[in-house]
Amino acid sequence: MIKPETVNQIFERAHIEDVVGDFVHLKKRGANLLGLCPFHNEKTPSFTVSPAKGLYKCFGCGKGGNSVGFIMEHEHLSYPEALKFLARKYQIEVEEKELSPEEKEVADERESLMLITELAMKFFQSSMKDTDEGRSIALSYFKERGMDEAMIDRFALGYCPEGPENSFHAEAIRKGYKTKHLITTGLVKEGRQSLFDFFHGRVIFPIRGISGRAVGFGARTLRSDKSIAKYFNSPESIIYNKSKVLFGLYESKSAIVKKDLCYIAEGYMDVISMHQAGVENVVASSGTSLTVDQVRLIRRYTPNVTLIYDNDGAGIKASFRGIDILLEEGMKVRAVSLPDGDDPDSLSQRLGPEGMQVYLLENAKDAFHFMSDILLEKAGKDPIERSRAIKEIVGSLALFSDRIERNLKTQDMALRLGVDQKTLNFEIAKAQRQVDSDRIKAQDRGRPIDSPPLPDTPPPLTEEEMERDMPIMNSLLDYNEQQEQERDIIRILLNHGDRRMTILFEEDEQGETEEEISVQQYIMDELCNERHITFKDALYGKIWALYQSAFIEERQLDVRHLERHPDPTINLMVAELTTERHVLHRWSDRKIYPKNETEQLQRMADEALNRLRLRTVMQMMKETEVAMQGSHDPGIQQEALERLAKLNTMKAKLSAYFGSVIVNL
Ligand code: ZN
Repeated sequence: MIKPETVNQIFERAHIEDVVGDFVHLKKRGANLLGLCPFHNEKTPSFTVSPAKGLYKCFGCGKGGNSVGFIMEHEHLSYPEALKFLARKYQIEVEEKELSPEEKEVADERESLMLITELAMKFFQSSMKDTDEGRSIALSYFKERGMDEAMIDRFALGYCPEGPENSFHAEAIRKGYKTKHLITTGLVKEGRQSLFDFFHGRVIFPIRGISGRAVGFGARTLRSDKSIAKYFNSPESIIYNKSKVLFGLYESKSAIVKKDLCYIAEGYMDVISMHQAGVENVVASSGTSLTVDQVRLIRRYTPNVTLIYDNDGAGIKASFRGIDILLEEGMKVRAVSLPDGDDPDSLSQRLGPEGMQVYLLENAKDAFHFMSDILLEKAGKDPIERSRAIKEIVGSLALFSDRIERNLKTQDMALRLGVDQKTLNFEIAKAQRQVDSDRIKAQDRGRPIDSPPLPDTPPPLTEEEMERDMPIMNSLLDYNEQQEQERDIIRILLNHGDRRMTILFEEDEQGETEEEISVQQYIMDELCNERHITFKDALYGKIWALYQSAFIEERQLDVRHLERHPDPTINLMVAELTTERHVLHRWSDRKIYPKNETEQLQRMADEALNRLRLRTVMQMMKETEVAMQGSHDPGIQQEALERLAKLNTMKAKLSAYFGSVIVNL
């Protein structure tokens, strides 16, 4: 908990050219500085530093951000760690929030546990390499499984001796650690008469956090006795939350970024043997099925994920569940089917490094193809099983938050499943409403959202219809226009969000009342009630979501907070939108603004809002027209006509606002 005043002090002192200059040789080029990018290989410099904006940006690899972001990226640190790094450089005393005695005890305990796991990792490593017992039992086991020394070191693998003479707990107590803390880590247990090492006689897989420190362990027995659990894992503690850690992420993160892809496997050995086969972008969610927090951890490095789970009942179930969680978090998901009886470990040993890499590339399927292949094969010709399979796929399709992406995927799946697309779409809309209402319940505890009734998703097209309507479809898929409107809204929020304006509310009897609100509140109020308007651009959507959560918590979002957001793509966009000359949309050129500032602010906000609304209405009209032309069902025709009439009224109102009847956006 670093105090905000300290954070401000660090930002004020850490000039970007100075911070970057410690790592990159910079040369002056106009107002900017130029150097060779430290994040990708280049011979001609495309890495630019702007002292005026306080930002760096590489035009080769696209990386960019502020000074804290640079340190996070370059030194692989978390946000608070990077702040402390810079504080040390500028000799700023880091003022952390004063801890209460209870908080202090927790902090001390946390530090002790971290030191104990660190000591344990080293102890287990040396027990394997430097003792006869370790070499003959553990090291030979790993070597037999095809692991070389480099891999054993990379994953800091080790061995916990049988004891009692070489026990870990004796070592830790000699070093002064408290028995209480040793027991909390799960490494040591209390027996009838004495303490003993819980993992004794097992090989050890350290589970490391992002910074490389061990937070927990997996321990595998080498005995073939079936009555003993094959794996023991560390219990959860204040330093180890298994749903927030991924095995292999520390070792794989740079390869994940480089390949822009993350494989997810089931076990420790899968991850290590894939590394041994040269596939170094792989993690495992050991000891738990994939969680939302783990997915968010991966998303910091890449949006692309491929699941590699065993081809048995449990593995398939786990991969289906994983696909849903990943889709819900907006990830791009693929999955690989392994040959029967194989796991990534056995397969990579059988195929060798090159064979394994080729296998993964050739067999990674779109998640929906993966699901439908498995489900349809299982169902065979049984109609009940087939409909169950379709229901399952519908459930996953409904998780897409992007409507157009969902529509495309639905068309594809209708063909594959041999189902009428309209039926499929109807089922999805039903499932979607369920997902939506669950989401609202989860997000807006207590806050009623008064959303206007949405027209159902228009039915997707048949193949012939698609060919005929391709030009229209293409224009629907072109987000550029909408992006411009989204950009306007974000720009106004950033530049004028904190300015106050007086709004007149019309009331039935007393006439009008006045209320002073911020521009931010005004825009959020308007758009939060129109849930059919969604931000399509990923980055504007991200910034919008931050405003939305501030609005729901009834607080004002400060631009400075966004300028200093840990996500560098946000810093860059905010800098771009707040420094570029404020060019209003072409409509504004013809408008004469009233002199009164508050009216001017409201006018500006309304214009941007109405442009976004108009764009959405026009898009919905196009979609409805396409649907109507593609259907001979009188019910659908009638419904589409009614919807068009409604949309037309909205369009006319909005067009009137802009003072023209025909608007070509
Ligand atoms: Zn670069």
